[in-house]
Amino acid sequence: MKILLSLLLVLCFFCSCTEYKKEKQSSEKGGDPGKVVRKRQGSADTIAYGTFSNPAEEVEPVTVEKDTIIDAGYSFEESIAGTKASQSIIDQLELFEVFYLSVDGKIHQGQILSNRKIAEDIREIFRFMRESGFVVEKVVPVVRYGWNDSLSMDDNNSYSFCYRDITYSKHATGMAIDINPRFNPIRWKTENRPNQPQGAVLDTTINGTLYPGHPVVEEFRKFGFRWGHSFTKFYDDHHFEKR
Ligand SMILES: [Zn+2]
Repeated sequence: MKILLSLLLVLCFFCSCTEYKKEKQSSEKGGDPGKVVRKRQGSADTIAYGTFSNPAEEVEPVTVEKDTIIDAGYSFEESIAGTKASQSIIDQLELFEVFYLSVDGKIHQGQILSNRKIAEDIREIFRFMRESGFVVEKVVPVVRYGWNDSLSMDDNNSYSFCYRDITYSKHATGMAIDINPRFNPIRWKTENRPNQPQGAVLDTTINGTLYPGHPVVEEFRKFGFRWGHSFTKFYDDHHFEKR
């Protein structure tokens, strides 16, 4: 009986060893797909930099990795601090995170404060821009610039809500968004006035710059946005708005 028990014990030990070896081999071959996928999401190296392709239909959500650079991390209260907008406008706003490929070739996380009517559109358009390798330098609520649009434009910052004269600008209700203003400056059509931001020059060979027929322009159009390129007095190439 003792011999039989000992034999059984040896057999059990042998079996568990074999299972352990199998597990080890599978993990050495990269058998943990979760890890591989997470690494791919966090790495900007895998994004076709500067080329445009239609992103795959099914794209997994991007998650914050330790190498994701955080450009903005405001609470809602912080993001509206000091605005002169009325409570009825503030009640229409939503603050949300977006991920983008920045000029350093790395994935950054920023925040958009916009009207909630266009929040889902903007999230989708940022997914498109990221997956097609379109560069967005930074996305920070304009509160960081003291609600000063010129300072924000100077810094090539992309943003949506900024309270101004409501009859003048869709930004006042968060129904407009500017993308890379320094790469896509305001250029006057007939008047001889300087580009805005000052000193900015349009160079469509730079990734992050828009032009008629550009895939990002077409994507905005698909979601029903009007492009500032068609404004009467100037080309406002960084500006998209929705009614
Ligand atoms: Zn604008």
